[in-house]
Amino acid sequence: MPDIFFHNTLSRKTEPIVSSKGNTVGMYCCGPTVYDRAHIGNFRTFLSQDVMRRSLQIAGYKVIHVRNLTDVDDKTIARSIQEGKPLREVTEHWTEVFHQDCGRFNMLLPHIEPKATDHIQEQIEMIETLLEKGHAYTSEDGSVYFKVSSFDQYGRLSRLKERELTTSEADASPIDSDEYERDSMADFVMWKSRKENDGDVYWNSPWGEGRPGWHLECSAMAMKYLGNNLDIHSGGEDLIFPHHENEIAQSECSCDRQFFRYWIHCAHLLVDGGKMSKSLDNFYTLDDIEAKGFAPVVLRYALTSGSYRQTINFTLDSLHAAQSALQRLRKFSDELLAKVGMNRSSLLKAIAKNKHAMDPWSIFQEAWDELRNDLNIPAALGKLFSAIKGVKPLEMSAYEDSQATIAFHKLIFALGYDLDQVAIEKDKVEAPEEIKSLAQKRWEAKEAKDWASADQIRNELQSKGWKILDSKKGYELEKI
Ligand code: AMP
Ligand code: ZN
Repeated sequence: MPDIFFHNTLSRKTEPIVSSKGNTVGMYCCGPTVYDRAHIGNFRTFLSQDVMRRSLQIAGYKVIHVRNLTDVDDKTIARSIQEGKPLREVTEHWTEVFHQDCGRFNMLLPHIEPKATDHIQEQIEMIETLLEKGHAYTSEDGSVYFKVSSFDQYGRLSRLKERELTTSEADASPIDSDEYERDSMADFVMWKSRKENDGDVYWNSPWGEGRPGWHLECSAMAMKYLGNNLDIHSGGEDLIFPHHENEIAQSECSCDRQFFRYWIHCAHLLVDGGKMSKSLDNFYTLDDIEAKGFAPVVLRYALTSGSYRQTINFTLDSLHAAQSALQRLRKFSDELLAKVGMNRSSLLKAIAKNKHAMDPWSIFQEAWDELRNDLNIPAALGKLFSAIKGVKPLEMSAYEDSQATIAFHKLIFALGYDLDQVAIEKDKVEAPEEIKSLAQKRWEAKEAKDWASADQIRNELQSKGWKILDSKKGYELEKI
């Protein structure tokens, strides 16, 4: 199996990925909280995970990708109450919007996309096990808490104990909310008894009416779908503590085995140097960027062209550089494909099915070596552009060009660029006098509202290989 390496937050080291079973890698990604439009920061994380999955596939692994939908938590409930709509109606709407954005970004669909609300029973069973084993306790109001002191490895992922907690923090009172900033050894809630501001969102449980805590949702769904492939678990860096720490505690105490061996976290995206969050209302969505005239692939490039482990600062200027880099890639791809007579989408489909797994990397070996080294995308792009610099597909030998075409498109697949979205500037060709005068006649007919003649001349121009593009200022001729 060819090596691919990722940085493991658990060991703080970059390690080769070794699957727990055959060549299948289980990959669990904490999914979106479906209460609002995902912003470009969220997509930085989801896109990095997409490149991770694609690169594992190119490295020869079969990946089982699970990404949950958080469709019940403090935020989703607050939104449904604010809008006066049932929780499901709100979360299904935002799920659909999320799926549309993922499609426009050319992201691979996860194989399994479980919803927290469809797994209440599994969550109740996990709590029952934890209560039986003495890792949890109930409170007077019917909530159930995880007893942090019962798990001596608590804090292993976030190195909590090394951060010199004060005694008062270590003795902190139990925490009820899903998200908390405080680095604390406090017990956290797994089952929340029904409160007035939950509206009609509740389920029955052995402890009375209530709902699960956010951390428990991921533990139960990850165990259910990847219990036999506990390889990679991933999310944004804000999830290291408390979310992932708590997931590990609940899962390892209930199942008595290691809950995922590789923990991979994506650093945050800043906008114009500042923090971006839904609550601060300073976020861009994909629509905002498209409205500025950039295709989703351009935003994809800008969001993923830095190392996923470093904070990046997003600026609108970065989109122009992304656009011209993509134009170079598209031009090179078009030339290669034209020379060997292949079609881009069929070739990419074959690559996705692993049909070219054994083909040599040819002049793109160094670019792949950078990519498989903890997704060093900036270095991989550097090597990719230097490999194509000065190379003219028309001058390559038959052997070289088919090898290079496949290898180049394996990288394009791994990076997930939909090159068909990249606008290519057409070479301007001067129209002959006959065409220019026909176009002028058509314009005059249009001005005179003689639509029949205008249409008839447009068709005539079309049959002669010219297209008319009307604008407010007038018209332009373009060679078809
Ligand atoms: P949420 O929908 O809030 O649950 O977040 C979905 C994913 O986006 C999680 O993996 C978060 O860690 C991640 N995330 C949230 N904000 C940012 C940001 N500014 N930059 C990168 N990732 C983020
Ligand atoms: Zn999660």
